[in-house]
Amino acid sequence: MSEIIRVTVWGEYLHERQDEKVRAIYPQGMHTTIAEGIREYLGESVVVRTATLEQPEHGLTEDVLASTDVLTWWGHIGHHLVADEIVDRVHDRVLSGMGLVVLHSGHWSKLFTRLMGTTCSLRWRDDDREVVWTINPGHPIARGVPPVFIIPEQEMYGEYFDIPQPDELVFLSSFRGGEVFRSGCCFVRGQGRIFYFSPGHETYPVYYQPEVRRIIANAVQWVYAPPAPRYATSTCIHSPLGWFEQEA
Ligand code: ZN
Repeated sequence: MSEIIRVTVWGEYLHERQDEKVRAIYPQGMHTTIAEGIREYLGESVVVRTATLEQPEHGLTEDVLASTDVLTWWGHIGHHLVADEIVDRVHDRVLSGMGLVVLHSGHWSKLFTRLMGTTCSLRWRDDDREVVWTINPGHPIARGVPPVFIIPEQEMYGEYFDIPQPDELVFLSSFRGGEVFRSGCCFVRGQGRIFYFSPGHETYPVYYQPEVRRIIANAVQWVYAPPAPRYATSTCIHSPLGWFEQEA
């Protein structure tokens, strides 16, 4: 018996409304397609809703976050439009146990750079294809994912990627120019699990690809921490051994 994971898929939803090419691929927005992929693979074990930048409080109200177990994040040209108080709120929720899946250009979001504590900058180039290698096949996020697969059209993201050393690395990508990139990285911050997954440039249909959908769905399950007693860091507790006199 497993519990139902409550997922909120956050999308900046700007390219899709400003750029015909992107709109043709994602007419309802990338967030809608990402949400469909999660539902496709996780079925009744999840409830998935979406939230976007333009909504009041970017759709991430206290109530929404309190009832979100896992948040996914896609942003790019609107990183600076995300209000600091909302970043504070989401950051706090991650530290207290909400799972977070950061996608593609979300690497430069206020939220991710703050959680990482580094610039999270990287090298990039247009018009390539990406070869994704599973380098940690025993990891839960790699379940059902082939040893290697190709994303036929993709932007190149390459090293050096200025992140802290990931706790676990699940995928490594390579490109035509010989570039490599740590494309699937796991982190823990406070009580929250974080997975960064780099595929997903807005001008290519990456979020329709089965392997990509499978990975995001697996990541939702991995970052999900079942409800458990939270330990408030400000609370003083006594040792279960009780008080004792120190030997002289
Ligand atoms: Zn991109």
